[in-house]
Amino acid sequence: MHKASVAELSAALKARKFSSEELVRAHLARIHAQDSELNSFITVTETEALAAASHADRLIAAGEAGPLTGIPLAHKDIFCTRGVRTSCGSKMLDNFVPPYNATVVEKIADAGMVVLGKTNMDEFAMGSSNENSYYGPVRNPWDTERVPGGSSGGSAAAVAARMTPLATCTDTGGSIRQPAALCGITGLKPTYGRVSRYGMVAFASSLDQGGVMGHSAEDTAYLLGAMAGFDPKDSTSVDRPVDDYVGGLNQSIEGLTIGLPRQHFGEGLDPEVGAVVEAAIRQYEKLGAKVKEIDLPNSPLSVPAYYVVAPAECSSNLSRFDGVRYGYRAKHPKDLSDLYTRSRGEAFGEEVQRRIMVGTYALSTGYYDAYYLKAQKIRRLISDDFRQAFAEVDVIMGPTSPTTAFTLGERIADPITMYLSDIYTIGVNLAGLTGMSIPAGFAKGLPVGLQIIGNYFEEARILSVAHRYQQVTDWHTQAPPDAGS
Ligand code: GLN
Repeated sequence: MHKASVAELSAALKARKFSSEELVRAHLARIHAQDSELNSFITVTETEALAAASHADRLIAAGEAGPLTGIPLAHKDIFCTRGVRTSCGSKMLDNFVPPYNATVVEKIADAGMVVLGKTNMDEFAMGSSNENSYYGPVRNPWDTERVPGGSSGGSAAAVAARMTPLATCTDTGGSIRQPAALCGITGLKPTYGRVSRYGMVAFASSLDQGGVMGHSAEDTAYLLGAMAGFDPKDSTSVDRPVDDYVGGLNQSIEGLTIGLPRQHFGEGLDPEVGAVVEAAIRQYEKLGAKVKEIDLPNSPLSVPAYYVVAPAECSSNLSRFDGVRYGYRAKHPKDLSDLYTRSRGEAFGEEVQRRIMVGTYALSTGYYDAYYLKAQKIRRLISDDFRQAFAEVDVIMGPTSPTTAFTLGERIADPITMYLSDIYTIGVNLAGLTGMSIPAGFAKGLPVGLQIIGNYFEEARILSVAHRYQQVTDWHTQAPPDAGS
């Protein structure tokens, strides 16, 4: 069951080959067997899952099932779930049980899906390795001495280890695509505004976007279809119709023009990762696509600009955690100022505190023009680079991350090296575009991701481009050996 596609699972449920309850129990058993080693879940909602599964079974029996009814999934622990702790990977929210659902959670429940639990993540989605979680690091199922990537590392590891067929995730600078690459799965970050951010704990609001992880483009197309759409509760959500992502998968790629950014194939790229990506691009040429070298001249500035904009926004967003309204509160405060200072000092981890300090500095009088305003100008230049590129090409491809999964502890003391894990992904967030990562092969036994970047709202196009590749290759079907055995 755990190796079947979503379409196969859906057909089997409808044909009553097995029930949703059996399917959910099989996945819960895989979680119990593997997750004490992998640590990809913060909370497993077994009782709720079994209740939702039997509800789904009743809908199926009554002939009222949609394509996702009864299919299990995991939510990144950044999405608010009514009655279920939503920690965001932080001690600050370790005791937070939201009274409402995020729109994404609501929509997925409406589709009849069954939530297995909440996945581990870097604290407040800040990180590229999952080592910043209050709940301890997640291990990469392909090599448990290595990181799964971050910040959606729990979702990526859970999908890779076949503990769930699908998971939600978020991407502010690469947190869907980079862990998808490092864990050998398919992950898609939608265009900014395509998926509601209501009820998704905010990190950097102009960059954050919820998205999907699964085993294939086809599987993720189903989930994206259920999640996407306008939400009046999110003022940045865009009111335009949602494409038929599953129906659009078989678009031809004959004559498709693929842009290869010179800047994504240069210094810093592990040559073995580069070779895998080049082989994938040759495969596309065989399938009838044309390749064109392009320039994204400002892309080397994406990481520095991001590390001004994202901390600035996070310093503002995280000011709500004051020890008063909700979340962690320090014991026996002397006065109000002591309450604020100690609550925040005791409950935020080191990386979060570093970002708040950088962001507060960048926004302060006298420095705003020098840092924040300048970063915003660079952001515009980066968007313009993409706009020019998309005047000549249909999609952009390259490596998702410069290296394969690194070992636990390897980069934790060196934030700059850690930040460079996202050098090829961050520009997409700064511009607000859509991008995905698909498995394209292995380097020294570890998965390598191919990044496919699409123009605004071209999710259907990049999904079909990914699907075409997955029809002729089997990288996406390869699974790591079970953990804990
Ligand atoms: N790794 C980047 C950071 O630490 C991106 C995180 C994300 O996309 N949430 O900010």
